[in-house]
Amino acid sequence: MGTDALLRELTEAGVAGLTVSWADNNGIPRSRTVPISALAQVARTGIGVTTLFAVFDSSDAITYAHPGLSTPSGDTRLVPDTDRITQLAGQPALAWAPGNLVSADGTPWPYDQRGVLQRQVAALAEKGLTALAGWELEFTLHRADGAPAHHGPAYGPAALTEVDEFVASVLRDFAANGLSIHQLHAEYGPAQVEIALAATDPVSAADQQLLARQTLRAAARTHGLTISFAPLPSTSHAGNGWHLHTSLWRGGQNLLAGGPEGPGADGLAYVAGLLRDLPGVAAITAPSLGSLARLRPGFFAGAYAFWGVQNREAPLRYVPGTAFLGEDRANLELKASDASANPYLALAVVLACGAAGVAEGLTAPPAFGSDPGTWDDDERATRGVVALPGTPDEQDAALAATPRIGDVLGAELLGAFRAVR
Ligand code: GLU
Ligand code: MG
Repeated sequence: MGTDALLRELTEAGVAGLTVSWADNNGIPRSRTVPISALAQVARTGIGVTTLFAVFDSSDAITYAHPGLSTPSGDTRLVPDTDRITQLAGQPALAWAPGNLVSADGTPWPYDQRGVLQRQVAALAEKGLTALAGWELEFTLHRADGAPAHHGPAYGPAALTEVDEFVASVLRDFAANGLSIHQLHAEYGPAQVEIALAATDPVSAADQQLLARQTLRAAARTHGLTISFAPLPSTSHAGNGWHLHTSLWRGGQNLLAGGPEGPGADGLAYVAGLLRDLPGVAAITAPSLGSLARLRPGFFAGAYAFWGVQNREAPLRYVPGTAFLGEDRANLELKASDASANPYLALAVVLACGAAGVAEGLTAPPAFGSDPGTWDDDERATRGVVALPGTPDEQDAALAATPRIGDVLGAELLGAFRAVR
């Protein structure tokens, strides 16, 4: 649809403004809103935004430690993807669109996270590969007075009755916003709820993850609840994982397909590629202090670097397809992933490191069916299982030591990302 027709449609639907959103290097959505009458102009030339958002930290402080962005001077343009404009069901005066940050002259800007994923998808296409991806979103809900919004039991419908109006809004608003919910349930932790999004192409999956956050926040506000996506809201309970499921496809064939023991050779190579680079990958997909605190053994979060078939302690959990489900449903779940990751960067590095394994024909080490957190040091050493990086310095060292991540992000963005940490 052209922007004139789109403007007419949105205006008739009562839309007054367009919010254009992107995610920064902390996974925090940032945005600009313009009157809807500016749609055509903004679609052409974007909205002015400081270059410094690439070096904002998670408490909105700006670091000048990255040489490429070490002064307050500089501007970039935030251009909405007009194909993705959605009237927000929970905030009906607003339409929402994901945006790309481009240079002031309209050319690609090296710090544009969405552009990184778009380039990665194009690089896969050159090799005849496509991917599907989908996130699970765990979050906690509290009342205005700080009380948990539900009191379990975990996975119980009784828990959901305590947040019934919120759940009803979420189901309706997700559908209206074009977000396909795979399933919703009360999760293990107190006041915790999970929504799984259906798998789709990578850029849509990352866009939808941002839109899902916005939709959830609006529904929570409507019902007087506060919502937290923090990786570890409380040290005594389960964390909020945003597990990332991916599958890699060639010519309509899911390379992750296989059997109950694991995927076929290409799928195993994908697993092996991710496992090889997992310390660096997790530094992008679970990059905050909260992320590191969440990655404890015994909490289904993925503390040790290994893979398993349907093993919920494995940071890389292979989910087989079956004749019952459809063999094509096979995928790999990354559990070392949470809301403090930028979804575009997270998906770009996962796909790049997995696909590198396929290109090199890597072989995977054996899968494990138990929790290495219950083994002693000797057993872990014998089986070659090490802990994922547990401190920011260890994560930084892993990033520096993973050339494939530098290739995907580019030196500028990787530099800004590391400076922000
Ligand atoms: N809440 C767990 C986490 O921190 C995950 C629980 C599950 O497997 O769904 O990732
Ligand atoms: Mg869960």
